Amino acid sequence: MQEFDTVIGLEVHVQLNTNSKIFCPCSTNFENPANTNICPVCSGYPGVLPVFNKQALLLAIRVALALKCRINSRIYFERKNYFYPDLPKNYQISQYKMPLGENGLLNLPAGSSVGITRVHLEEDAGKLIHKENYSLVDLNRTGTPLLEIVSNPDITSPQEAFDYLTSLKLILQYIGASECNMEKGSLRCDANVSLKNKGAKELGVKVELKNMNTFKGVRDALEYEISRQARALTEGEKIFQETRLWDADRQKTEVMRSKEEAHDYRYFPEPDLLDFFVEEKFIENEKQFVSELPLDKYKRFLDAYKLQSLDADVLISEKFLADYFEEAVKEFNEPKKICNFITGPFLELVNTFDGRFKDVKLSAKSFAKIVKYFAGGLLNNLTAKKVLALSINTNADIDEIIKKEGLSQMSSESELQSLVDEAVKESPKAVKEYTEGKSQAIMFLVGAVMKKTKGKANPKVVKELLEKALKK
Ligand SMILES: [Zn+2]
Repeated sequence: MQEFDTVIGLEVHVQLNTNSKIFCPCSTNFENPANTNICPVCSGYPGVLPVFNKQALLLAIRVALALKCRINSRIYFERKNYFYPDLPKNYQISQYKMPLGENGLLNLPAGSSVGITRVHLEEDAGKLIHKENYSLVDLNRTGTPLLEIVSNPDITSPQEAFDYLTSLKLILQYIGASECNMEKGSLRCDANVSLKNKGAKELGVKVELKNMNTFKGVRDALEYEISRQARALTEGEKIFQETRLWDADRQKTEVMRSKEEAHDYRYFPEPDLLDFFVEEKFIENEKQFVSELPLDKYKRFLDAYKLQSLDADVLISEKFLADYFEEAVKEFNEPKKICNFITGPFLELVNTFDGRFKDVKLSAKSFAKIVKYFAGGLLNNLTAKKVLALSINTNADIDEIIKKEGLSQMSSESELQSLVDEAVKESPKAVKEYTEGKSQAIMFLVGAVMKKTKGKANPKVVKELLEKALKK
């Protein structure tokens, strides 16, 4: 097969994290019963007037800043006209000629960067629920504030597209702009992909891909489409400019519409919203939220705390974890130990909750105390985990839990000696194996002593005492 260069551009729509819709006071919670969060404005009644949501604007500015865009402080909306059952007004208020942000940049962890063409505000449409021979319309989603983020066609592989989406999502979550939940539809992605002869300047015909529901779906769809186009071009066929839908079950793309069917949206200025300028102080104020983006934090964690890249990766994957880690380190300055306890027992426990980090009540300060007691020998691996489990949802006093549950570790040799002697007496087989050179057999005896103390013994001290006893 011939060799080609791949050219990919991504269009991402994210729902901005506001309580109310972009042009009316209705709630943005579209999980409520159908058509309960609606009003004359978002249902497209005649004679109503939209009122622009300030919070949506501020969050959009925050995203534009995080993506290093040039910001157009003149806010100017236009109508994008089309007819569809989920769009009651028959037009969508959007930004066309003058997007909020332009010429941005997103740096990827692997070192490459992707240009951001534009970032603009618009309102979402409703949702159609298709039944056997009829369809239902739910307008709860209509008028939800959206930000469209369009990348330059700088992406050169499906994996890079995946990395771009992962990085973008992390940034948007970090700065509190969006939940980015693809399953709930608060992040959606379309892709443009074309192939050109290796090294050629001239771009090939691009195909638009829709209907991908996961980042993996985006990567799979691009992989499929690239090999489909490469095969066609190698065989001398033409690629048509068209929109194709990804079918995740069948793992292939199918034509949805050709260029001839493309819409003419007849954009014109929105007469119900006057254009205005955003004062500089509002833009300045948003800068505090984008001062350290996830990739910068990652680099600082490697540098300042000497963490391994895999550990730093886990910590920065959620802003909650990164903040929790740093707060705990302030309390007990052993970054590696704090990190191990977060990536280990802490996350293990959190993964068993539905609400994830929302259910964590244990303060980072108290968490640091558990790690400190573990490091100092007051708690062993088992009892430390138990204290953590008992306090994580309650933030109960750590010292009281240890006292109440009798969990402090038994490290005194005099306390443990008699139990070690008992264990030796009770397990002649393990003793014999050990004395015959099978050194691992001692772990059985350590286990026996641990059992006798209900897990409270210091295993290191127990092992030392056993070694001493068996040398005799
Ligand atoms: Zn409304």
